[in-house]
Amino acid sequence: MTLHVYDHVTRSKKEFVPITPGKVGMYVCGLTVQDKPHVGHMFAFVACDMIRRYLEYLGYEVTHVQNFTDIDDKIINKAAEEGIGFREVADRNIDLYHQYAAELNLQPAHHYPLATENIDGIISYIEKLIEKDHAYAVGSDVYFKVRSFKEYGQLSGRNVDDMITGTRVELDEKKQDSLDFALWKGAADGEPSWESPWGAGRPGWHIECSVMSASILGDHFDFHGGGRDLLFPHHENERAQSCSCTGEKFVNYWLHNGLLFLGDKKMSKSDGNFFAMGEVLEKFRPEIIRFFLLNAHFRSQIDYSEERLKEAESALDRLKRTAVKLQEMVQVAEKRDLTEPEAGVLQAVISYRNRFFAAMDDDFNSAGAIGVLFSLSKELNQYYSSIGDNSPAAEVISESVAFFTEGIEILGLWRGGFAEMAKSVSSDIPEDIIALAAERDKAREEKNWARADELRDELQKKGYLVEDSSAGTVVKHL
Ligand SMILES: [Zn+2]
Repeated sequence: MTLHVYDHVTRSKKEFVPITPGKVGMYVCGLTVQDKPHVGHMFAFVACDMIRRYLEYLGYEVTHVQNFTDIDDKIINKAAEEGIGFREVADRNIDLYHQYAAELNLQPAHHYPLATENIDGIISYIEKLIEKDHAYAVGSDVYFKVRSFKEYGQLSGRNVDDMITGTRVELDEKKQDSLDFALWKGAADGEPSWESPWGAGRPGWHIECSVMSASILGDHFDFHGGGRDLLFPHHENERAQSCSCTGEKFVNYWLHNGLLFLGDKKMSKSDGNFFAMGEVLEKFRPEIIRFFLLNAHFRSQIDYSEERLKEAESALDRLKRTAVKLQEMVQVAEKRDLTEPEAGVLQAVISYRNRFFAAMDDDFNSAGAIGVLFSLSKELNQYYSSIGDNSPAAEVISESVAFFTEGIEILGLWRGGFAEMAKSVSSDIPEDIIALAAERDKAREEKNWARADELRDELQKKGYLVEDSSAGTVVKHL
């Protein structure tokens, strides 16, 4: 099977064909940094990170661009509330984003463009749209003429005439048509602003993404990510601007992740219905949050609750035990001919691996792929009990380790990958015991054998069995 990706325009999955062979351009709508990121925000970035990892695994050279909207009404209001500059508000939330991104094992984007660093590009882009009669200035504002782009509504499956009767259309006397949206907003007194041919002002929200994606990835690129709530109007507007300006296709595949729901409402900052990332990280390890978010197809809605995170914690713990056990088995595995049942186990492992990749090829179905890792885990447990005290066959173990390592890495389920995961002890081992085990690793590294033995005795006295593996000390309940 080859990679198939959902296509919004045809509403079906189609085979992925890159614009330039071997390369992928991916633009992800980043945060508007008026406040601390919440879990719903981070979901979009976790999903895109998983997608990027898989594309890289397939051998594509991915250029990942993710912007920060560092100027808009909400940021200005927040700064005014606190009596500080908008830059300070933006920068502190950008810093927080990077901190959470690292904890969630996100690979850094190759470019993080800022709206405020692209004002010149934004102005000349708007000038081009005016020249092509897709936009018009009224005083110090500039609007995009929605009806000038015939395909408007195609991406989100809306009909322009239905939108007019919709309730969300704002009335603004300056606009020629109530559907039109702002490309440039004249500044009120005291607001942060930049000089432009239309007077002092700032860019509208949508235009920055058209400009920054094109400046780094070119006019036409492969993937565009963002939450489903960005589909309309944000992405519909981006597409209208870009296609109108260049006369070309804009994006080949849209990656809209589903939304996080709390009860029956979407997690949203403006409704006060959200969990800040920092709060959740106080209760749950970042690996658990990442696992929870990837254990559903990224396009589907996720119901968020602490109970479900706890379920994710114990499920991830099962995978962690698989890693620890596999690592132990590597030490004792024996190179020998396979028995008949063992040949069956090896075949099963190979077919799980195929199923894992079939799931990933099916529109990046990480949930299906995780399901296969659990099947592998079950298969191995049955195998261990079938061999009793005998050593496992090296071929079965090495094939399993190779697949498990790949799977963990592609999904980014553990920082440091399989090796780190296999080092960890089960979560029902208390912190002080984990600390003693780490101290023992350090003593062994320093070849301080006497101290290492002392620590082993201490751990045993506390009721733990100590085993050495190439990944370090493994402790278990006696
Ligand atoms: Zn955007």
